[in-house]
Amino acid sequence: MKVIKDPGTFTILTPKAELRKQLLRIERAGRTCYRSQTGKISEDSARDFVAMLLKRGHESVIEHSSMTVKFMKVSRGFTHEIVRHRLASFSQESTRYVDYARSGDTTTLDLDSMEIHAVTPPHRDETEKIALDNGEQISLTEMLSTVESYYRGLRKAGWNPEDARQILPIGLEAHIVVTANFREWRHIFALRTSKPAHWEIRSVLGKLLKEVQHIVPGVFDDFKVAGKDANGVEYVEQSF
Ligand SMILES: Cc1cc2nc3c(=O)[nH]c(=O)nc-3n(C[C@H](O)[C@H](O)[C@H](O)COP(=O)(O)OP(=O)(O)OC[C@H]3O[C@@H](n4cnc5c(N)ncnc54)[C@H](O)[C@@H]3O)c2cc1C
Repeated sequence: MKVIKDPGTFTILTPKAELRKQLLRIERAGRTCYRSQTGKISEDSARDFVAMLLKRGHESVIEHSSMTVKFMKVSRGFTHEIVRHRLASFSQESTRYVDYARSGDTTTLDLDSMEIHAVTPPHRDETEKIALDNGEQISLTEMLSTVESYYRGLRKAGWNPEDARQILPIGLEAHIVVTANFREWRHIFALRTSKPAHWEIRSVLGKLLKEVQHIVPGVFDDFKVAGKDANGVEYVEQSF
């Protein structure tokens, strides 16, 4: 059992230069609405133009864009939440086809040394003993190891991954690739970096938000860090 305490990570798969170029495309598209394509379009003019569109609520123009992000070391809880965003596209690691008992080369079945990786709350001590109904004291790490041993038992008994996965926890590590246009990303950030959002998705998307604010100025500038929750995880609010 491997416990992942650090919040998940991500890689923006769309090259930065391509993301910046999309701003120019948005300005070109938007100026069609106003027949105002006079001067030369540049990164500076596009940033100001996009900011103007957003202030007016003319958000459909920023749909002429696309950003793909790969999230890693997140939990199945995270992926359950992000796939609710219906205007995005997803490719998610499968618990039916990924066999946790196969080593790196995926050819060798190794049920004895297989490990399950689980994301745990960074603000909780995973070694703290918790009293169960039967009086036993057991930590989160031990609980997860027990689940791992159940999974191993099912596999040794001949159950295939798609049947044995029913015992796996929601904290199970997962990878997912998400593609959406800037409008949908704005919507995802608005819901998932706000105070009521779950700490895991809020923490990971908060970091992604900061990076994209830097890469594509103008598109996400109205999102501002507004404070931290009781666990020290930042939350964001929108204001121009
Ligand atoms: C803090 C929090 C708690 C949550 N708790 C729960 C919960 O307990 N149970 C639960 O089931 N879900 C829960 N959710 C998920 C939530 O209900 C939404 O499914 C999720 O946030 C996606 O939001 P969305 O539908 O606005 O966005 P998207 O699917 O990304 O859609 C973007 C926008 O497109 C438009 N749109 C998309 N599809 C349609 C449509 N069919 N008809 C009309 N307009 C459409 C809407 O304007 C929508 O806002 C929670 C979400 C958050 C942020």
